[in-house]
Amino acid sequence: MKNLSSSSKQPSALYMLFSVEMWERFNYYGMRAILALFMTKALGFDKATSTQIFGWFTAFVYLTPLLGGYLADRFIGKRRSITIGALIMIAGQYTLALYDIIPAKIALMAGLTLIIIGNGFFKPNISSIVGDLYEPNDKRRDRGFTIFYMGINLGSFIGPIVCGALGQGISWKYGFMAAGTGMILGLITYLSLQKHFLGNIGLKPAVKQSEFSNQPLTKIEKDRIKAIFVLIAFSVFFWCFFEQAGTSLNYFADEATRLPVWDIFGWKIQIQSSFFQSINPMFVLLLAPMFSLLWKKLNKREPSIPNKFGWGLLLQGIAFTIIAIAASIYINGGKAQVSMLFLVATYFFCTTGELCLSPIGLSMITRLSPAKYVSLMMGVWFASSSLGNLFAGQLASFYDRWTLSHLFALPAIMSILFAITMFIMTKKIKTWMHETEY
Ligand code: GLN
Repeated sequence: MKNLSSSSKQPSALYMLFSVEMWERFNYYGMRAILALFMTKALGFDKATSTQIFGWFTAFVYLTPLLGGYLADRFIGKRRSITIGALIMIAGQYTLALYDIIPAKIALMAGLTLIIIGNGFFKPNISSIVGDLYEPNDKRRDRGFTIFYMGINLGSFIGPIVCGALGQGISWKYGFMAAGTGMILGLITYLSLQKHFLGNIGLKPAVKQSEFSNQPLTKIEKDRIKAIFVLIAFSVFFWCFFEQAGTSLNYFADEATRLPVWDIFGWKIQIQSSFFQSINPMFVLLLAPMFSLLWKKLNKREPSIPNKFGWGLLLQGIAFTIIAIAASIYINGGKAQVSMLFLVATYFFCTTGELCLSPIGLSMITRLSPAKYVSLMMGVWFASSSLGNLFAGQLASFYDRWTLSHLFALPAIMSILFAITMFIMTKKIKTWMHETEY
């Protein structure tokens, strides 16, 4: 089933995994879009409590992939883990929808816990199985992950709109049920197509499949793990700043930005602050094909992985410089609201940074990790998002306590400093990667 060709055509299994992951992200981001509102409006929690629950929830969602990856590598195999994860997440969404039948707090806690566990089984394995479609030095891998990343963001874009419209417009439970139904559609797609597209890939635990499973790691493998850990350490800060989108940038949209009413063919549409949450996935969808093309066009001059990470951080630095300027205009202008173009430009640069780092990180994990640990290492990659989310919440909690322009200047300065450090370290990290081609 592995497609060995190095032509530019992607393996068709990629598009099957694309659709499954699209539905899973529809389910996750659809629920996430209404969760905080549900907690304050339906359950009567105050903002401090609901944002804290939200922060811990997202941190745990990205922590359990460590365990899910480990179990898949050792015992269960990737394919089965994906099915188990999907089933548990479906159960989680429908449990959330039970809040008016069973005690609401129990529905909330049980539902979120199931989603955390389900995601642990699902997310690292759907990501690492994509890597199994390529031979180690297949140049299509980074581009393949960029395409896969579009599936992620197609789901992330549509989920909040559908679940938001149903949840806020009709009843919260329909929002959660729509999310769960999306995951059901993803599971049906997966179960009906996996045999045809995946052959034997991911059936057995990687440790059992590897002929070297009992041997200690070689020097090259250890070096590569070192390279991965350094890159992951930098990505913690990338996510810490990137995840301001849900909190501080969200408040900025709400309080400090002029939100116009648009007249679209006679329909008056009030731009809402929550709409800004869809800008990032929208930009991913628009820009990912261009990035894919860019890497292809650059061919031999395609930047190395650490170099792309450096660019990711630099672009994020530019994004926060823009919003720091907007914040200082807002403050110095006596809190007169600023144009929404500032936020759009900020999200544009955050997204270009994300595209240099996030799909590349997924691709890197599958290429550089020892075969028997790929899913576990994918879990480590997502753990960086977990830590990033946790720090992001802490940083955002200074929103009312710091001068706003300083709150955004800090990520700007730090991202640029990290980018410079990454550029300086590129050569060293490349030697740890032990690859001639990248
Ligand atoms: N938005 C991407 C996803 O949902 C990346 C998330 C992350 O790694 N923090 O998969």
